[in-house]
Amino acid sequence: MDVILLGPPGAGKGVQATMLIDALGLTHVSTGELLRRHRDEGTDLGHKAARYMATGRLVPDALVIEMILEVLADAPGGLLLDGFPRTLAQAHALDEAWAEHRRRLLGVVLLEVSDDVIVERLSGRGREDDDLATVRKRLDVYRESTQPLIGYYDERGLLHPVDGAQPPAAVHAAVCASLGVAPAASRV
Ligand code: AMP
Repeated sequence: MDVILLGPPGAGKGVQATMLIDALGLTHVSTGELLRRHRDEGTDLGHKAARYMATGRLVPDALVIEMILEVLADAPGGLLLDGFPRTLAQAHALDEAWAEHRRRLLGVVLLEVSDDVIVERLSGRGREDDDLATVRKRLDVYRESTQPLIGYYDERGLLHPVDGAQPPAAVHAAVCASLGVAPAASRV
């Protein structure tokens, strides 16, 4: 069973991903991390993706979809998808791939945080694409391209909204409660 982690940049997806893979034994797949690795290693995909990433825009669907399909094709267990899908086209490609590989979606966790919290968190993170202009661009892109996914998964009864402004452990507890699984700490 796969889980999608959805939310604006700075919502805490990375931190929650780490806690959730512990709790559910999932493999973490972050398209942002994969793309940064491609960029740093100077692969063909990395070259193509770099200018989009540096300016806070989305890497074109075709490139990202091809990359994620390779991951899905030989994924052993459940996946935690962090930062994918980010557009309806990506969500449709994922639905097709899931049908083909007979995988299922446990749920879509939506981390909700206000713009003020996002800008405050991201300006302290120090990543190359975290300067104020790029943060604002990434927020615009989120609103325009990624927010439609909320309705898409809500209509399918898969959406689990969680207040992402709480401390990480409280967010994790809420995420697990919404998915109906035990939190990481209670399994130790
Ligand atoms: P992230 O680490 O998830 O914030 O992603 C960093 C950057 O990688 C984004 O600002 C995009 O430029 C690119 N990226 C990551 N995931 C995707 C995706 N699913 N579709 C398009 N671009 C992506």
